[in-house]
Amino acid sequence: MPNIAVFIEQRDGNLKKVAWQMLSEARKITDANDGEVWAVFLGDDASAATTEAGKYGAHKIFTAGGENLSTFNSEAYGTALANFCKNNNPDLLLLGSTAMGKDLGPKVAAKLECGCISDAVGMTFDGGFEFRRPIFAGKCFVDVTSSTSCTVVSVRPNAFMLNEVGGTAAAESFDAGIDGGNLKAIVKSVEAATGGKVELTEAEVVVSGGRGIKGPENYALIEKLAETLGAASGASRAVVDAEWVDYSHQVGQTGKTVGPNLYIAAGISGAIQHLAGMSSSKCIVAINKDANAPIFKVADYGIVADLFDVLPVLTDEVGKLKG
Ligand SMILES: Cc1cc2nc3c(=O)[nH]c(=O)nc-3n(C[C@H](O)[C@H](O)[C@H](O)COP(=O)(O)OP(=O)(O)OC[C@H]3O[C@@H](n4cnc5c(N)ncnc54)[C@H](O)[C@@H]3O)c2cc1C
Repeated sequence: MPNIAVFIEQRDGNLKKVAWQMLSEARKITDANDGEVWAVFLGDDASAATTEAGKYGAHKIFTAGGENLSTFNSEAYGTALANFCKNNNPDLLLLGSTAMGKDLGPKVAAKLECGCISDAVGMTFDGGFEFRRPIFAGKCFVDVTSSTSCTVVSVRPNAFMLNEVGGTAAAESFDAGIDGGNLKAIVKSVEAATGGKVELTEAEVVVSGGRGIKGPENYALIEKLAETLGAASGASRAVVDAEWVDYSHQVGQTGKTVGPNLYIAAGISGAIQHLAGMSSSKCIVAINKDANAPIFKVADYGIVADLFDVLPVLTDEVGKLKG
């Protein structure tokens, strides 16, 4: 009878898709083993989180808000999650393997003195839990278990598929147990470094560029199309290793895993390590001048042409359609 708690991450009211993916996967396990899925939300307005959590399989949603939890504060959030676990004894606490989740996971595990497993890409239950995670920079995977009664696990975004069960989560507030006077730091506001750009792992559309763009100055072609489509811009590792763009753009085994409705790959050969991060995209469009490039084996639509001819035309046409 495993009970699985899932942290619902939000920034400025924007709820992270990874939470719904974790709820979906957790619900499959609890349905098969007579357990429950509990969403945990920290912040001021839990209404959207409550609706979405029920839709993706949470039986209950536990919420805590107030002055010290309205903006992300590592110390306050860590204390709140640890207190939630102490009082409700879930077998697992799942968090997204995001900047926030990577910060919180070890902190909560240390407070609970329990096992902490990071960057999981698989989860099974057969009397006990087993998690799959990449090691050695993604060269191989390891299956791990934890021997503590509660385990904190961070899950890589887009590792699990979404599954709507269309239910309703019963809402309950909980005492986060935070003494504001004891907090060592107060967060006044959070400024996003991405300056309003779409986050890769959350994006519905991704445009990525590979070594075929030839140089850093041409990444603007990728960004222009991405901007016109309201998409996030990604890159292959070749482009990141050459320092044409920042690592935060890398898609693949050692970068980010994306799961958009549309993935456009321009000048990317389709190495297995790149495919590992994007092959679950619903529709893949590849632009490559080599008709034998492996990317065409996974592409739904292929354009065999020079990306320097195709991208400006595509951007113009999308621009016209969008008015
Ligand atoms: C342990 C490990 C982890 C890795 N992790 C990742 C990862 O996370 N992500 C990742 O991407 N890679 C990763 N790699 C690297 C991966 O193996 C490939 O080397 C890399 O993906 C190649 O990038 P690319 O497709 O941009 O470059 P290339 O393989 O050089 O392909 C460039 C493509 O552009 C095409 N092209 C050239 N000019 C044009 C043009 N004008 N118009 C259209 N097409 C053109 C070419 O035909 C070619 O297909 C990893 C490798 C290892 C060993």
